[in-house]
Amino acid sequence: MEDRVEENLAGFVDEEEHDNDEDTPPNSDCEDVERRYMRCKKGSGEIKLEQVFDSIGEFKEVVVDYALKNGENIKFTRWGSEKSEVRCSIGGNCKFKIYCSYEDKIGKYMVKTCNDVHACTKDGFSKVIKSGVLAQLFLNDIRKDPTFKAKAMQDAIEERYTIVATYDQCRTARAKALKMIQEEYDEQFARLHDYMEHLLESNLGLTAEVGNGQYEVLENKHGFKVDMNAKTCACRRWSMTGIPCRHVLRVILTKKHNPKDYVNCDWYLASTNVKIYSESISAVNGIGFWIRSQEPRIQPPPREVTKGPKKTEKKKEGQE
Ligand SMILES: [Zn+2]
Ligand SMILES: [Zn+2]
Repeated sequence: MEDRVEENLAGFVDEEEHDNDEDTPPNSDCEDVERRYMRCKKGSGEIKLEQVFDSIGEFKEVVVDYALKNGENIKFTRWGSEKSEVRCSIGGNCKFKIYCSYEDKIGKYMVKTCNDVHACTKDGFSKVIKSGVLAQLFLNDIRKDPTFKAKAMQDAIEERYTIVATYDQCRTARAKALKMIQEEYDEQFARLHDYMEHLLESNLGLTAEVGNGQYEVLENKHGFKVDMNAKTCACRRWSMTGIPCRHVLRVILTKKHNPKDYVNCDWYLASTNVKIYSESISAVNGIGFWIRSQEPRIQPPPREVTKGPKKTEKKKEGQE
């Protein structure tokens, strides 16, 4: 669960302005001693014979990219941790088939069959594009604007990709995305102490009180105005996410205040309230980079029922 949250966060991370090499993920190119196996660029949506993957999960992600890119109605027909097969959902004479399985010799998963020509006519839908996939695709849209409607998502899908989605799928996807964002919020909140320690190691300039709860925090020669009373920072992250940004935490550290006192208890409210200012926000390094401190995790503040959409009705076949 936590891993998934960290994964989601990765998409949301705005790096600090200076690059830190240590934070760069290792190069994932696969260079074999004898032979260089074919990899695909993430998001390229390409699948070729003998292409290799580190896991079936990675293969499945590429299949989703492939469906989004080509607008093909395909579905998984064999599962397991060792193999996966994709066929056409439209059927008829269509012989489309992609098969990927574990290759002992190289310790990787390899595409063994790739009949990627369809005999069918596209119907616009794709069985591999489920609400969970849509939730991931629209996570940032919803983060920026929690009131982003299912209908807007449906329109955006048609605009951005070569497939269509049903309204119900979009509604489920929206609910899932809101839940993921709330979980991220809770996770960030729970780990505020780790965040503080991370901050101690950063080169954030000390603050100067400019009067009445207002401070200036220097970062790479830029001054960020923090207002502890109005709960705002020039970077806007505090008001957007409800969690104090690094500039605010710098003030809290200096003043030896408790960060808990500066957290807004509801992400949804916090971000809808400032939607009108919805400019890009800058965040700290992702939670994945925070080193675990000795401090206990913090329980999220009590909140009323989530302001997200109502639980969707019965799941419908093929949409879940
Ligand atoms: Zn087909
Ligand atoms: Zn800030």
